[in-house]
Amino acid sequence: MEKSVVKFSHCNKDIFCFFVPEECPECGHSFSGQRLEEAPVSIPNPFSNGHKSPCSFLVAPTDENKLREFDGGSGDLHTGITNTKGVVFNYTKSGVRRDYQGWERCISVPLVQPDMYNLLDQWDPYLEKFSATPMWDPIWQSFNEETHNCYNYTLMFINCVLATQGKRALSKDEFTKGFVLPRVKRASKYTTLCREISQNHFYITDSPPKETKETAAYGDVET
Ligand SMILES: [Zn+2]
Repeated sequence: MEKSVVKFSHCNKDIFCFFVPEECPECGHSFSGQRLEEAPVSIPNPFSNGHKSPCSFLVAPTDENKLREFDGGSGDLHTGITNTKGVVFNYTKSGVRRDYQGWERCISVPLVQPDMYNLLDQWDPYLEKFSATPMWDPIWQSFNEETHNCYNYTLMFINCVLATQGKRALSKDEFTKGFVLPRVKRASKYTTLCREISQNHFYITDSPPKETKETAAYGDVET
């Protein structure tokens, strides 16, 4: 099981760690017998098991550096769509694959609200039908790193679903900037945080001023 990251504040620093220590690593002040001014908060883990996220869009980092550099343009990340049973449909050079495992640690974005019964009912047939179109058949059209890849497959499916809901299609840029990039950045920061804590027990940043605390929940992790 993955360790979870907690954050507490002391001497104007935000201190990230796996366990709150007995004393402040910055000033040495002992916490035993007394409380911190503010309770430690846990930092939500941005990764989840894709096979347990039905009807979702998934992003699986191939490795950490690629996660950091991801701009939506290349095939650095692999993306897929789950059916109602957690099978991951994803487009590769050999066509659409159905993965029953291998997506246990990824970023998952639910695409259907639990009360959208019609869509839930139709989800699996939609996904099957969409995946069976000649466009994703390597005999008819071949995979292209830039223009016809797993990312295009997932985006096009999402747009088909939006169309059935009478909603406007997302451009690749809108999808990347509004939908994918913020989550990928968050996951990348979290990974950096975990690596720093594993190496040094703590990751310490200056506490942002009170009023901006909400927006800067992670502190300045990027270096
Ligand atoms: Zn301190």
